[in-house]
Amino acid sequence: MPLPPLEHITYGPVRSRRLGVSLGVNLLPPGGKVCNMNCAYCQYGWTRGAARYRGQGTGWPTAQAVETAVSERLLRAAERNEMIDKLTVAGHGEPTLHPEFDDVTARLCAVRDRIAPRLPIAILSNSTTAGWPEVRRGLERYDERYMKLDAGDPITYARVNGAAGPGSSVEQVIDALRALPPITIQAMFVTDANGEIDNSTEGAVEDWLRALECVGAGRVHIYTLDRAPALSSLRPVSARRLREIAGHVRRAGMIAEVFAKKK
Ligand code: SF4
Repeated sequence: MPLPPLEHITYGPVRSRRLGVSLGVNLLPPGGKVCNMNCAYCQYGWTRGAARYRGQGTGWPTAQAVETAVSERLLRAAERNEMIDKLTVAGHGEPTLHPEFDDVTARLCAVRDRIAPRLPIAILSNSTTAGWPEVRRGLERYDERYMKLDAGDPITYARVNGAAGPGSSVEQVIDALRALPPITIQAMFVTDANGEIDNSTEGAVEDWLRALECVGAGRVHIYTLDRAPALSSLRPVSARRLREIAGHVRRAGMIAEVFAKKK
């Protein structure tokens, strides 16, 4: 079963395979996933509804509401001596679709500076909006940017990630990522029992490696399914194949970390 949507602006802390103890910030409207992609592996199920593009639809939390919720939660964490490694903007969809993304981010940074100045602020993004000037300004404010890139060729990209709307072809995403300050690429490798989706084949990985080199990625997180996907026939890729892919990445001069499926 897909995960239900989050109910509040802050959530967790979540003990993440990749991010440590992460206090989550959800900028999406309540009620269901809001995303401009439709990844076959999405833990929130298939993308539905009208609010799929930037700022469309109603119910987005205001910048003030985000500031207040995060401020209160960080003060509570300080009172309880909670150990938190990161403040991570993610949530049930694509956070950069928030209509005031840059303003929200500036306020988050100000709250962090005031209450927990040593706490890094991270974002998980699907990368499709990274070329939009206001989003790029916001992304530049983060201490850590985890940007999705699961494929380097248009066919595999479309099969794994679904349609992302105007300006979001894989070529445009690669160009936009290249222009950002240092990023960590997050790449999910999956295969499909019906044989329609597989971004772990030699050919798909070669194209993806070329894309990573174009982007100039310094660090790459490689992982596979750990939760129920939207497409039920999807399967995780073996830990051995993930390690092989990581080896290719390292030989190309980048840092690769593998997060294999738990047994
Ligand atoms: S980008 Fe993230 S939220 Fe959007 S469909 Fe893909 S996995 Fe789901």
